[in-house]
Amino acid sequence: MALIVQKFGGSSLANASRVMAAARKAIKAKQAGNQVIVVVSARGDTTDDLIQLAREITDNPPAREMDMLLATGEQISIALLAMAIATLGEKAVSLTGAQVGIVTDSTHTKARIRTISTNRMRQALAEGNIAIVAGFQGIDEKENITTLGRGGSDTTAVALAAVMKTEGVEGNKVDCEIYTDVDGIYTTDPRLVPEARKIDFISYDEMLELSSVGAGVMHTRSIEFARKFNVPVLVCSSFGDADGTWIIPEQSWMANTPVRGVALVKDEARIAILNVPDRPGISHQFFTALASRAIVVDMIAQNVSQNGKTTIGFTVPTEELKNTLAILTPLALELGAKVENSGEVSKVSIVGVGMRSHIGVAQRMFNAIAKEGINLRMITTADIKISVLVEKSEGIKALRAVHQEFGLGLVENNINPGDRHAKMGCSNTDLASITSRLPNMEDILVTEVTVEADQGRITAFHLPDHPGTCSSIFGSIAQVGIVVDMIVQNVHTNGVDLSFSVPSGNLQKALEVTQKWIGIHAKNATVAADPDITAIHVHGVGMRTHTGVASKMFGVLADLGININMINTSEMKISVVVDHDKAQSAVIALKEVFLIS
Ligand code: ADP
Ligand code: ASP
Ligand code: MG
Repeated sequence: MALIVQKFGGSSLANASRVMAAARKAIKAKQAGNQVIVVVSARGDTTDDLIQLAREITDNPPAREMDMLLATGEQISIALLAMAIATLGEKAVSLTGAQVGIVTDSTHTKARIRTISTNRMRQALAEGNIAIVAGFQGIDEKENITTLGRGGSDTTAVALAAVMKTEGVEGNKVDCEIYTDVDGIYTTDPRLVPEARKIDFISYDEMLELSSVGAGVMHTRSIEFARKFNVPVLVCSSFGDADGTWIIPEQSWMANTPVRGVALVKDEARIAILNVPDRPGISHQFFTALASRAIVVDMIAQNVSQNGKTTIGFTVPTEELKNTLAILTPLALELGAKVENSGEVSKVSIVGVGMRSHIGVAQRMFNAIAKEGINLRMITTADIKISVLVEKSEGIKALRAVHQEFGLGLVENNINPGDRHAKMGCSNTDLASITSRLPNMEDILVTEVTVEADQGRITAFHLPDHPGTCSSIFGSIAQVGIVVDMIVQNVHTNGVDLSFSVPSGNLQKALEVTQKWIGIHAKNATVAADPDITAIHVHGVGMRTHTGVASKMFGVLADLGININMINTSEMKISVVVDHDKAQSAVIALKEVFLIS
């Protein structure tokens, strides 16, 4: 017998008729011969309303009590849904996170799951029940109620599917269905871009990146679970029967499309630290100070130094700006550096496994934005993602331009491969290694440290700060057929600095093209080439949501006295560029610290 975990979001339970509709979906799955677990969110705007209730008392509620309050939203939903199912003549039992045994750490309001017991759920299912579980909540070791962070019910659903798959279900056949108010994952948020199209299949990595750069349709951590435990996830509408979107392991045909989706974060705060002494360990100091106060740094762009000084640009959520400045300003002062608040920005990102092999993807993105007269405030790239910052007010315009540039609203974005299951590749061949991840199931999974030598880097300083600069430079580079790997662009009061890496064999050509471009367009700019750089990548799952990884990595390099020349972060990979002769010792130390044999 197969097991289906269904999850219903807030809008799917907003009134009595929707609760009844959800009950019917669960019953239908059961009557088709499956065991069924249903995970629910709080109804409608309940969680927001609960937060408002707390605000009426205090601006600064104790986190433990906040969790006690927030968890009530989901408790209402489980009871009502169980009643609805009973009314329709099926057996159901409602369970809180604590009753199931979802044990988390004690980080109230953003707790991470440690273990989940399958006993109670198995027992409920064996007795012929539909098991209804409150999403978003758990208990810590001292039995305090915890919550997983906003949107966390998705994570509960996928995590339950993962544990049931590994130790709860005969034959390990488990699907996870996320029912929501859209009929699947779209090329971008359909509320922002009406031409957005539904995607039939998306890889875990693409979904992980998209959700971490603003696609709020799935909780990022739920995709970490899906990927780590090989759970296929179907996202579909709770209001109809249309085919949804499957989130599955990467398939070779997915690379045919350069860009799978685009996303927007409407408001982030951008900070630049100028005149940072380019010595080992300096960035480590800044980011450790922020990590110790649980401030999640988002986009990091560290450029190559000039005259022994470098600029570090990064973003934080707007609500963290004040704290961030307070922490960094004295630190910067000690080092003779300067912290600059560069204002509120929007972040536009494109994601797709196909961009690894398609030339000129970055240039097309920059060009589409430049054509709208919008200036790029910062650029960072990662394996399957390119993010840019623009002025806050121009975010949606830039998003639409990029969506259109890649034809995401027009063409068939996804070849629908006939036989779904054959293409899904979620077989159980590696069950043993999956099971070994069950203790501390949400811990960071660092899988590999790899090195990419034979790289060269070009850096241009003092480029003109106006729309079209990067588009034009990368247009020239693409024209000669050179694949650009990492791009880091930082804008600050001293000008625009741009660095990018290319394969060694192309360095000379890329330098000539850049020099020629500067000769024509930017007389004050200077350019430098570095033939001997090496990129080191630490691979894993959820590398950015686990803030400690980057900090640990920078720490290891600082201890070895190794200077970091460029940094890039993504959900699957944190990359740094170091001098070639330091790479070997860095890799050995990193493998040691991340316990990779
Ligand atoms: P639920 O309450 O079911 O968890 P959410 O509000 O968390 O639902 O997520 C669904 C919403 O996510 C959609 O209504 C849509 O506006 C938004 N969204 C953002 N990006 C995307 C995307 N790429 N595809 C689909 N929906 C998206
Ligand atoms: N009810 C919680 C929230 O609104 C969890 C969820 O909906 O996933 O964030
Ligand atoms: Mg949600």
